[in-house]
Amino acid sequence: MELLIKDVTIVTMDEDRDVIDEGYIFIKEDRIQSVGKGQFTESLENVQVIDGKGFCAIPGLINCHTHAAMTLLRGYGEGLPLMRWLNEKIWPMESKFSEEHINIGTKLACLEMLRSGTTTFNDMYFMQEEVFKVAEEFNIRAVLGLPIIGEGWQEQLKSALKLNNNLMSNTSNSKMVKTMLAPHSPYTLSYDALKEIGASAKAEKVGIHIHVAETVDEINIIKEKYNKTPCELLEETGVFHSKVIAAHCVHLTDSDIELIKMKDVSAVYNPQSNMKLASGVARIVDFLDKGINVCLGTDGTSSNNNLNMFEEMETGALLQKLWYKDPTKLDGKTVLAMATVNGAKALSYDNLGTIKEGNLADIVLLNLNKHTFIPLHDIYSNMVFSANGSEVETVIVNGRVVMEKGKFKTIDEEKILFECNKLCRELI
Ligand SMILES: [Zn+2]
Repeated sequence: MELLIKDVTIVTMDEDRDVIDEGYIFIKEDRIQSVGKGQFTESLENVQVIDGKGFCAIPGLINCHTHAAMTLLRGYGEGLPLMRWLNEKIWPMESKFSEEHINIGTKLACLEMLRSGTTTFNDMYFMQEEVFKVAEEFNIRAVLGLPIIGEGWQEQLKSALKLNNNLMSNTSNSKMVKTMLAPHSPYTLSYDALKEIGASAKAEKVGIHIHVAETVDEINIIKEKYNKTPCELLEETGVFHSKVIAAHCVHLTDSDIELIKMKDVSAVYNPQSNMKLASGVARIVDFLDKGINVCLGTDGTSSNNNLNMFEEMETGALLQKLWYKDPTKLDGKTVLAMATVNGAKALSYDNLGTIKEGNLADIVLLNLNKHTFIPLHDIYSNMVFSANGSEVETVIVNGRVVMEKGKFKTIDEEKILFECNKLCRELI
């Protein structure tokens, strides 16, 4: 299939961060075939045309750390301290989750993500076969991570490797989904478990998605047990010997920052979750100064409480400005890069996150006639500090139009919302 977006403003996020004022994007199958200024001059026979006048195209946003099906727990057990909240509310409820819950919860998450311009998400949750089914059905790009946590780690690791082998052996799947090993954190796994996971990831050439240094409690637990920081432990056990994406990274020492730079670990900034759970502030400006790849994630909806990357971009920038007492830090362009091109790099996509020839066609169109984009002094600034995601009207993933003019093409939104409410009433 061929698709042309014409007369559109394009925020390419390429190396030069070019913005094309009135241009076109021509898409063939799953790829961006050409991008340019002015009019597309080739024949338009059998080409679907989208009029981009008054719209701005950006690369689809990439949510680098979430637990999608936790949408079912949005707003449940609010306001408790972390350990009481987990023990008394979240974990007992999660233990009741069946495949149906994961399926419907993930559908709600994907609906929310697509509506607010996210086209790729990095997931860590149980029963990833269900997440896989939903990602295929919704045509959203997903990185699947089966959590490995606690005593049952050996069985869980086996299942995660099996999932990886099953999905990767089917080449028709490989474009829309990939897998990572997802050890929960340094404090919920034994030394032997971390070692084995590190060795397996290296042998299978698969990436690792893990929570790192999220809270002071975690730092204290690891210090008491090993007299090390979580990052030092992950280096020693070999976890850092593979391609790693580390969520949170709130409490890193200067030498931890050097270490993750040396090991090419990507750090996921989760500002809203860190603020809501009062975990602390990650030193993102220091990470960027050192040349660390920083991407952005919402975390699950029970600690956020939504999956809106526009909110995450704004909060993330504001928090850093305040933390460093410097309004020049984290401008709109830098933050949009975290949500697009840096995310692609963190998830090992070398053809995603920018609008350029040859890349996968994941593109979002925002309505520039909404009040949040008027006037248009600085498009990056409006995108990060003014927009809220409601400007997203058209979403293209892998060359396919998933949403157009605010309406989903094949997803029955009303049915999903109804089913979600019903399932949650039965759960409580
Ligand atoms: Zn998390």
